[in-house]
Amino acid sequence: MTAANGAGRPCRFCGTVRGPRVPGKAGPICLECVRTGLRVVGDGADRETTGGDVLAAVTSPLAAVCEFCGRRERRTFLGLRRPLLRVDCAARDAVICADCLDHAGDVLNVALRH
Ligand SMILES: [Zn+2]
Ligand SMILES: [Zn+2]
Repeated sequence: MTAANGAGRPCRFCGTVRGPRVPGKAGPICLECVRTGLRVVGDGADRETTGGDVLAAVTSPLAAVCEFCGRRERRTFLGLRRPLLRVDCAARDAVICADCLDHAGDVLNVALRH
């Protein structure tokens, strides 16, 4: 996965087309939404994107899969299944998991340093 492209495609979570972003299958996520999403993951509280839509934590195994990696649960080393925390933007039908947010944050950190 590489950063800073998906040029011209709106962020799946806020709709902005500007700034650094990390591409996903359904569309990219922007830097601001990665930051906001990580805060939601951190304390579970809902937050608004710069687009004014709400990001909320989702833990139900029945809720939508992460659109970046296609998972809704983690397989542990022993083959046990653990719920995978996701952040969704119901207004835009967009979902990303905690792991993909972490990864996107790392990618953007590296991209912004260059
Ligand atoms: Zn965004
Ligand atoms: Zn994911």
